[in-house]
Amino acid sequence: MREFDFELALCAHLEAERPDWLHARQLGASVEGRRIIDIACIEPGPEFETRTRLSPDRLPLLAVESDVGTGRACYWKDAFDCHPDSARAAMQRAVEAGFFERERRGGRTYVRQTTRYPDWFGRIVGVENKPDLGRPGDLQTQLRTDVALGLFDEVVLATESYVTGAHLNRIPDAVGVWRFDPDDGEREVVREPTPLAPDDAGVEVLERGAARTDVAIATAAQKVRARRRLAERAYGKGWRTYAFPSCERASAGECAGAEGLPYCAWKDRFVDAASECGDDCPGHDPAAPSTFDVEVERARRTPWEPEASGFAREQSGLDRFR
Ligand code: SF4
Repeated sequence: MREFDFELALCAHLEAERPDWLHARQLGASVEGRRIIDIACIEPGPEFETRTRLSPDRLPLLAVESDVGTGRACYWKDAFDCHPDSARAAMQRAVEAGFFERERRGGRTYVRQTTRYPDWFGRIVGVENKPDLGRPGDLQTQLRTDVALGLFDEVVLATESYVTGAHLNRIPDAVGVWRFDPDDGEREVVREPTPLAPDDAGVEVLERGAARTDVAIATAAQKVRARRRLAERAYGKGWRTYAFPSCERASAGECAGAEGLPYCAWKDRFVDAASECGDDCPGHDPAAPSTFDVEVERARRTPWEPEASGFAREQSGLDRFR
């Protein structure tokens, strides 16, 4: 479980090093596969500030990719190329996010964008955490998958282990390597990553079995879409997606200036309440969980704006349309 502790400490340190970037944990990082990346670090793009003024949540991709524009409002059903139920849900979420505004004409709902979808993110760095290289698990397969697909601009392996030449030989050449000590926050760059090619088509490993491996070509357009989906999820989610243990021994801990991490005095580290805490833990002593507000902390430490309400000139009264 040291992985969880390692991951939170690394997020706190990366956020302190690059407070203008966006950091998020445990995100889908594939086109059709099931790859989950431990940490995504997202460089702000030229219109990042516009994104912060839209919703604090992720925007629905179907709405972003619909034919709804900023000019004339269009009949919502004509603007989506998907099942009407999905289209309606995306349309409503986009209105609630202040990304669409709507009007009624002749008993029909018409929508338009309140602002063009901003060019808000730049490079995306994927970080795979493997604190103990002595227990690599699927590491090689995961990193090979990331390099072949090229969804990220760069991929890095972060570890607490001493990195030997033999380790480096087993890791794809393009993958950078950081050695990170979660206790003192020291991060050593053992090897710089080689930039990948997110604008080109890639090869995605869908299933790797003993006898055969299923792969698929991911087109450049599919990768653009997958990157946007990942970036939106990262924007909505961030990395403080943990619960506080209902335990006397837990408190809101601090790391690299970030407050409100789920610290356990009994284990002397951050703990994942969902998988580590409860009656099964010998140190468990029931108590109310911390009421620390992680969203307030995220707003304090990053440009993410929790009160953003979009650009709608007049917030649509949702009840009028239900
Ligand atoms: S339940 Fe166990 S791991 Fe969780 S906070 Fe309490 S002592 Fe720590």
